[in-house]
Amino acid sequence: MSDGARTAAPLPPGWLVCPVRACGESLVLEHARASCPRGHAFDRARSGYWNLLQPQDRAAKHPGDAREVVHARRRTVERGILAPLRDAVLERLRALAVTGPFLDVGAGEGFVAAAVARDLGLPTVGVDLSAFASELSAKSYPELTWVVANGDRKLPFCDHGAACVSSITGPKHAPELRRVLAENGHALLVVNGDEDQRELRSAVLGSAPPTGRAARAIELCAGSLELVSQHSAKWRVRLEGEALVDLAATTYRGARHSQRERLEALESLDVTFDYVLLVLRPLAP
Ligand SMILES: [Zn+2]
Repeated sequence: MSDGARTAAPLPPGWLVCPVRACGESLVLEHARASCPRGHAFDRARSGYWNLLQPQDRAAKHPGDAREVVHARRRTVERGILAPLRDAVLERLRALAVTGPFLDVGAGEGFVAAAVARDLGLPTVGVDLSAFASELSAKSYPELTWVVANGDRKLPFCDHGAACVSSITGPKHAPELRRVLAENGHALLVVNGDEDQRELRSAVLGSAPPTGRAARAIELCAGSLELVSQHSAKWRVRLEGEALVDLAATTYRGARHSQRERLEALESLDVTFDYVLLVLRPLAP
């Protein structure tokens, strides 16, 4: 996956901070170890990511997406199905003329963050709660920095260090996104639009009501971030067999038996992909 055509720009010193509660000192990254002046230290995983998830921020033994969900998502990416989403994000970042550090919260298997680093040359960090996701990202795109942390709690980054922070169907803890974002920076929040996968939802759940997620995301940001502009990325793809099963695995993570049966009965389906991209800026403190 990594073409090595371009090396991601190095991270600014002091951007990553120690995640230990009440510490928050700058982390110095060496080859296989990160440490802070108070003596807290973290080993880099063999696959290349940094696990900075603290015990109080773990939700389960293996928090975040399971291995099979991460790999189903990767296969969906490799089929090119989500390329228009990646392109829409790149187009927004180009329009915003982002030049500084880019932080992707809820980076998943990493394909969007990797495209940002490669195509825009930005110092980039991808954060995900799932160690399986970060492991796959680090193996595929070793030129970027990958961190396991809980975006719904505290992000291990300094105040106002990111020129742009994105959450692409990821966590939207607005006060924390606001904290890590430069005063003149932008947040790019991507949510599933009202029609996203409506055919799949109809087939499996029996109905496909509008998701209403864009309005909810804007509401969640009230007090931290204000909306600058709103954009849409919508396309349709005919999917069959494994492609449909993989997509459903990333959508219906806890599918009931009856839903799985309906899924397996589908031979092919035209599926609408619908994303809303929200560009926001920090509210004055
Ligand atoms: Zn520390």
